[in-house]
Order: sequence, then structure tokens, then C-alpha cells
Amino acid sequence: MRNRDLAVSIEEALKIVLNSVRPLGCEDIPIMEASNRVLYEDIVSDRMIPPLDDSAMDGYAIIADDIHGASRDCPAKLQIIGEIQAGGSIIGRQVLRGTAIRIMTGAPMPEGADSVVQFEDTEEEGGYVKIFRETVRYNNRRFAGENIKKEDNVLYKGSRLGSADIGILASLDYSAVRVYKQPTVSIISTGDELADVGEEIQIGQIRNVNSYTLYSEVVKYKGLPDYLGIAKDTLKDMREMFLKALESDVVISTGGVSRGKYDFVKDIYSDLNIDIQFDQVNLKPGKPCVFGNKGNKLVFGLPGNPVPTLISFIQFVRPALLRLMGAKRIKKPIVNAYLEEDIDSGKVHHLLRGYFTIKNNEFYVSKTGYQKPSMLRSMSDANCLIVIPEDITKVKAGEKVAIQLINHDEI
Ligand code: AMP
Ligand code: MG
Repeated sequence: MRNRDLAVSIEEALKIVLNSVRPLGCEDIPIMEASNRVLYEDIVSDRMIPPLDDSAMDGYAIIADDIHGASRDCPAKLQIIGEIQAGGSIIGRQVLRGTAIRIMTGAPMPEGADSVVQFEDTEEEGGYVKIFRETVRYNNRRFAGENIKKEDNVLYKGSRLGSADIGILASLDYSAVRVYKQPTVSIISTGDELADVGEEIQIGQIRNVNSYTLYSEVVKYKGLPDYLGIAKDTLKDMREMFLKALESDVVISTGGVSRGKYDFVKDIYSDLNIDIQFDQVNLKPGKPCVFGNKGNKLVFGLPGNPVPTLISFIQFVRPALLRLMGAKRIKKPIVNAYLEEDIDSGKVHHLLRGYFTIKNNEFYVSKTGYQKPSMLRSMSDANCLIVIPEDITKVKAGEKVAIQLINHDEI
């Protein structure tokens, strides 16, 4: 355990968290369920896509030399000797000089033909086709293997599967794919003052918000959330709930990590032999933030206020979940943006809620409103976090600042 009064930097905190992550094992799942899951293996193609040369257009398979010089006034005229439909067979079909075969998009190219002219440039008449335009050789022809060659490494272990990736798996005839398992995540809210959604609220009570924002985030990053409910601010209640939570790969609690009289979360960590790695981060909002591990289990004690809860999740829990699932890319993109208003911040690392727009390919950003940690609305309005490092206390309108694009995929 390090010196408890020392707040670690955001970068240090992330490093500590990632050092504790041991990626989970694998499972085979249907490709239809694989969206956003992380590949456990490289995918190497065992075939060519497309398997044969085929037509990219509906039209006529021809020999380009046959229609050399063709124009509207002086069309080339070829004899139609057959038709090949999409999925059709080419056996026994051969285009010879002076002939053409009607062909549909995706149909295999017949022998002899090098190119396809599209219907729009032709007219059929009594077994012949008039072609009004010449063409370069191999026009509208797709070549075998031009998309994927045999032995191509098309997808990589550790990449998150997007829709095009799943399409590639389908084209290679994978019905199932091997991916990392999803982490199970227990969610606990702590606080005597909390009333859950659906409960009658008494004077002085606060609606439990964090369990729901966190549940949503865990689902978004493909964890398997289990909401355990609200723990009262007593050692007994918390102990029971944390014990149950430790059955999961990851535990996230909120509240009870400040220096208040009833902030018991760290006592529970000690009690349950959860090894505390840090308990404060040099970050506003989100300074009180505990992270510990018990074996391979990761235990996050996030701040109680709704905005720091979410911001800490994005900075520390999100990357941990992604790494547990084997993902290589875990960084939210950061770009520079012109600030549209002055910002005055103290000497601590700030992540402010902002909204960026793009004008003439340049990013501009302004705050989404009041930045109090309890004001979730300015987080809901935000599409980025404005990064103000601790050595900077003032930034003027028109200057550039870094912004973290929290709604964009990891790079
Ligand atoms: P704490 O660190 O437990 O003192 O909590 C800090 C602040 O966050 C207090 O105002 C709490 O009422 C509030 N808070 C704690 N947990 C939640 C929650 N689950 N949902 C909404 N607000 C909360
Ligand atoms: Mg509390």
C-alpha cells in the first residue's frame, strides 16, 4: 500500500489499474452475437474473395477489342450467345470474337470475355446487341481474390468486432467466432440518503442515479452488470454486499470514499483483504477514487457525486473492462480544439464537460454549463471532456485546448 495522502496522477492511476488486469479466457459465440466483442484469435483467410472473376455490373460480357471505336453514331454489333445469371454456371460458355453473353452483377465471367459493358450503354435487337461506347479492357470485372487473398491475415486478435468485420467473418463462412469472455461486474451504491428509483422519496433523500449510469456504461462496454442495490452506511451492510460483489470479476461501488464520518468503503477493503493501490487521484472532479485488487478481481470505489462517478468510470474502469476483454485499443481520441470562452481553473488536473463543434474542419469547444460535481445535466449535454492539465490555471478564448472525445470509439 502506498502513502495514502498521495494523490496519483491520472496517467499513473490508469497505469496501476492496467497493471492489475489479467485478460479473461475465451468462448465461441455465433457471429450474430459478436458485435463489439474482442477477437481471441487472428483470422486468416482459407479462400479467395471473390472466388472467381465476376461481373461488377448488369450488362454484356464482351471482348474489349471487339467494340473498339464504338459510339452512339457507330455502334458495335455483337451476337448474343447466352446469358449468365448471378449464381449461374459458366461451364460451356465462351465468348468468341463478335459475340457477347448477357451477364448479371456477381455472375462469374465467362471464358474469352475480358470486360463487361453495362446495359445502359446498349440496345438489344433480334439476337444482337448494339453497344454505343467503347471500353477499356477489364472494365466492370472483379478479379478473384481482389478483396481477400488466401492466407491473408484479415482480422487480428485483440480487435473489437465492428459490422464490417462480422461481414468478413460471414464471407469466410464462419458461423461462430472465438472471442474473449465478458467480465462480470457488480454494482453497488452506498449511502443512507439514497432512495432507489420507484421508491417514495423522503425529505433529505437523494435519488440513486449512479447505479443506473454505471449499469449503462457497463452494458456499453460489453461487461455483464449485476446491480446489487444500495448499501447502508454501516460496516455490516457494506461488508455483506461487498462479499457478494466479490463473486464478480469487477466490483464498482460509488460513494463512501471521501473523508466523512460514514465513509466506510476503505475500511471494507481492509476488512476483506482487498489490496488498495491508490485512494486519491489528482483530478477534478473525481479526486476521491479508490482502486484495489483481490487476486485478479478489480475493485473500484468511485466518488459519490454523479459526474465524478461517470468521469472516473470513463478514465479508469472503461479501459480496465476493455483490457479484461483483451482489447488492444483503449484510448479515447484526443484532439485540439479552439476554446470559445475563457476558463479559469485551479492547480489541479481538470476534466471539464464540453461540447465540441466542427467548422471548416477545425474543432471548437465550449463548456456545457455549470461544472458542479452533482450537476449531471451538464454531463448529459457534453460530447467531450476539456482537458486542463494541472500546471495550467487559465486558458483564454481563442487558445487551443485538448479535448477527449468520450462518445467516439477507442483508438
Ligand atoms: P459521499 O462520497 O458518499 O459522501 O457522496 C457524495 C455525494 O454524492 C453526496 O451528496 C451523495 O448524496 C451523492 N451520492 C452518493 N451516491 C449517489 C448515488 N448513487 N446517486 C446519486 N448521488 C449520490
Ligand atoms: Mg455517502
